[in-house]
Amino acid sequence: ASSFNAVPLAPTDPLFGLMAAYKADTFDKKVDLGVGAYRDDNAKPWVLPVVKKVTSVQTISGTGAVHLGALFLAKFFSRPQDQKVYLSDPTWVNHTQIFSNVGLTSTTYPYYHPPTKGLDFDGFYGTLESAPEGSIILLHACAHNPTGVDPTREQWMKLAEIIRAKKHFPFFDCAYQGFASGDLDNDAWAIHYFVQEGFELCIAQSFAKNLGLYGERAGCFHFVSPPSSNAKEITKRIASQLAILQRSEISNPPAYGARIAGLVLNDKKLFAEWCENLREMSGRIKAMRTALHAKLVELETPGDWSHILKQIGMFS
Ligand code: PMP
Repeated sequence: ASSFNAVPLAPTDPLFGLMAAYKADTFDKKVDLGVGAYRDDNAKPWVLPVVKKVTSVQTISGTGAVHLGALFLAKFFSRPQDQKVYLSDPTWVNHTQIFSNVGLTSTTYPYYHPPTKGLDFDGFYGTLESAPEGSIILLHACAHNPTGVDPTREQWMKLAEIIRAKKHFPFFDCAYQGFASGDLDNDAWAIHYFVQEGFELCIAQSFAKNLGLYGERAGCFHFVSPPSSNAKEITKRIASQLAILQRSEISNPPAYGARIAGLVLNDKKLFAEWCENLREMSGRIKAMRTALHAKLVELETPGDWSHILKQIGMFS
């Protein structure tokens, strides 16, 4: 016999019942006063203008998002000359291959500065300045792979200036949001800044590391249109093309990891717990860096090891 024989049948939700009755009602002047959802003057749901600028497509983790963005750009980015994709030197090894797979030529901008084990900002900026107008610039949103070196906010602002002046297209790869500082907003600061500044851009987002969903392949590709009167129309057209590209390559992305990500992102309590988990992971990485640095100094290991503390995320 079941141990749950005493479980009573729950009453039907009164609101759901009311909604069902409302739907079934054929009266043409019926008014829905049930669900607390905002409606416009025509009693239609209001898609907020800010949301209309963003179109997002679920992808096969971060790799799939970078690939989808690359494929979309290869097909639709208007290139007066033969523009290249600029990747940081060094970068995640897969970037070069992903762009070449879709027929885009990549080159590099200076990034890592060996003497300081920090950022070669002048080289980075100078290359964006001399690159042909309208080049695609791949940027690591935070916790740069493989150097652990990120631009400061002031440096991001200067990069935004030159990217705007040269009409380059910023492509953010965001694989470690929350892993760098432990704070999602802080780690997405550069992206938020570029969006606020009105850039047209795209973002490849991975939930592999920050949700520990490595094998589930949960990711997202976002395309953000600049604020304009026809932003809604443009994003609609872009979304329709992205859907065709996805359909032809993967039909549908895997559901399980994305459902977990969706649950966590849409539930206040779970979201708060996730933020705490991120602080724990990034905090442990920072503690490991401090311990490693302290031991190297204690052992009087030749050389300057301060970069281990200055760099961020998992890489050094
Ligand atoms: N971009 C960068 C910079 C990465 O380091 C990685 C993972 N190593 C990815 C994208 C792809 O991540 P995934 O496909 O595992 O989500």
